Amino acid sequence: MGRWGRNLLSVVALGCSRAMDFTPQKNTALLNYLRRHVDGEVRFDSTTRQLYSTDASIYQIEPLGVVIPKTTVALEAAVQIALEMHVPIVPRGGGTSLSGQSIGAGIVLDCSKYLNNILDIDPQQRSARVQPGVILDQLNRALDAHSLMFGPPVATASRANLGGMILPGSPADFGKLVADETEKWAKVIRAANIKPD
Ligand SMILES: Cc1cc2nc3c(=O)[nH]c(=O)nc-3n(C[C@H](O)[C@H](O)[C@H](O)COP(=O)(O)OP(=O)(O)OC[C@H]3O[C@@H](n4cnc5c(N)ncnc54)[C@H](O)[C@@H]3O)c2cc1C
Repeated sequence: MGRWGRNLLSVVALGCSRAMDFTPQKNTALLNYLRRHVDGEVRFDSTTRQLYSTDASIYQIEPLGVVIPKTTVALEAAVQIALEMHVPIVPRGGGTSLSGQSIGAGIVLDCSKYLNNILDIDPQQRSARVQPGVILDQLNRALDAHSLMFGPPVATASRANLGGMILPGSPADFGKLVADETEKWAKVIRAANIKPD
């Protein structure tokens, strides 16, 4: 494993050490809290946790659970709850990261299943508003009707979500190029509206 890989793994492990210390009671409290307030799928079962324990990297870390929000309000609620209960979050798109960025021991927030709508396209302004789970090829198919395209080149265009393209796909220049390009063209990135203590 290269120096970068080792560093990243230890960052992931350190960032999640509190979550891994969870007692079963606190785990149940978190599950119930999420189920009460989040419109979407809240899955803490072993099969789901194993499914989300890998991405395209060599690493494997089982999360505490997975939340698949149906709306942006539900996504914000999940982030707020994680903040309140001091649980790390791992947003996830297509899960094609090569360095373990989309896995972690906290709560995985899967934006790809429901938050995948193109909200509008304005050909005059050459702009589009999208949810984070929109796939690059999906956006470019819709833009093609207006002779437009969203440029950042990523080999996984049939899987990569716009949300997943904003952070570097790998610690090397390879992923940084796509992230920089995406950031350059993404005018407004609306972050989850969380309220820290
Ligand atoms: C065969 C192969 C070829 C590849 N080729 C390229 C390439 O040419 N160029 C390149 O740059 N990369 C490449 N990659 C890496 C990867 O496919 C890209 O970086 C891609 O953009 C990741 O998108 P994703 O939706 O799978 O993101 P994920 O892997 O799901 O997530 C990537 C990062 O973004 C974060 N994230 C996801 N969604 C959100 C959100 N809504 N809000 C905030 N953060 C979020 C995740 O937590 C993670 O840190 C390749 C990977 C493979 C397996």
